[in-house]
Amino acid sequence: MGGTFDPIHHGHLVAASEVQSWFGLSEVVFVPTGQPWQKSERQVSPAEHRYLMTVIATASNPRFWVSRVDIDRDGPTYTADTLRDLQALMPDAELYFITGADALGDIFTWRDAAGLFELAHFVGCTRPGYEMDRSTLAGIPSDRVTIVEIPALAISSTDCRERQAAGDPVWYLVPDGVVQYINKHNLYRKPGAAEDGLP
Ligand code: ATP
Ligand code: MG
Repeated sequence: MGGTFDPIHHGHLVAASEVQSWFGLSEVVFVPTGQPWQKSERQVSPAEHRYLMTVIATASNPRFWVSRVDIDRDGPTYTADTLRDLQALMPDAELYFITGADALGDIFTWRDAAGLFELAHFVGCTRPGYEMDRSTLAGIPSDRVTIVEIPALAISSTDCRERQAAGDPVWYLVPDGVVQYINKHNLYRKPGAAEDGLP
């Protein structure tokens, strides 16, 4: 499962858990992006923060792992590179790429889009606020993509960042350890805002 994870939240974790169970996957590898070329209009938190929050959020699940392949590769992150790197690390693995409805809709803006379907089976997770209609799936080989209905969690990292910047709670939207990490490192704060996250 690729993502910016700035920060990782329960929407990501529920989607990963549902897809793991649905397909009986042996493990889910979370892959924080390196330099997110599609998000260049905003400042993304340093990769080490995003990586460590992802580790904290996934540590208790024996089937969840975090990979550094994207953050250790120079240059912008392309999904084809991610999948090739993971395949090289796990040559016998059959790969499933887990993505939300919004990201699946962007699939043809991804580099090497046609070749992607040879590298992995794509799993599109439903996400509140994003419709997945015929046009989203147009051109994707039907045997290489599955839509999985996820219990709806209208949580986004953007909303978590905005809440934190405004001094509103992010408790229960992200795992407790991630709330503590955000406060410890003073992430997403507007300059001059209260620093401890307490009312
Ligand atoms: P941002 O608001 O910064 O874009 P985000 O919440 O969309 O953050 P990403 O890191 O961009 O999180 O998402 C990683 C992947 O997880 C994407 O494929 C996205 O579609 C999916 N995803 C994110 N939130 C949810 C959710 N609440 N339900 C289902 N899928 C989700
Ligand atoms: Mg997103």
